Amino acid sequence: MQTLICWSPEQILKFLAHSRCIPNQTRCSGCGLEMVLVGAADCPDGFKWRCSSCGGEKGVREGSFFASPLPISKLIYIVYVWSVDYWDPDTKHSFLELEARIPRPTTSEWMHRCQEVCLKFHASDGVFRRSCKKEKRSAFEAFLEMVSLQQ
Ligand SMILES: [Zn+2]
Repeated sequence: MQTLICWSPEQILKFLAHSRCIPNQTRCSGCGLEMVLVGAADCPDGFKWRCSSCGGEKGVREGSFFASPLPISKLIYIVYVWSVDYWDPDTKHSFLELEARIPRPTTSEWMHRCQEVCLKFHASDGVFRRSCKKEKRSAFEAFLEMVSLQQ
């Protein structure tokens, strides 16, 4: 998982779709037909869903935990740093601010959202990380599993 920060947005999106954290398929909200994934240079994600009948469009992350105008590479970085057990929260914010140039209000907001997902399954994120450690599981992978289960 260490290579994750080197992945292209396309690789990250494919990984998230494979992990069932973003939709693999979707229906048009206008006419209910199955939409097609098309390349989109105008979208930061590089892709979008399009309805071949009415031309309706939808973002690839729409309706998922990862729905956000924030580039997916930055967002996945926040989630990854949040999930690791090595640093205290303040160090995590400083690291993301310096290394990934993500402003603190954004990291605070997303780390809070991660905690909220956690609370649906565990008592707190501390309890979650400890149980992952005990089970020798990656907290990042376990978190993505929770995200896939809640949608
Ligand atoms: Zn349609």
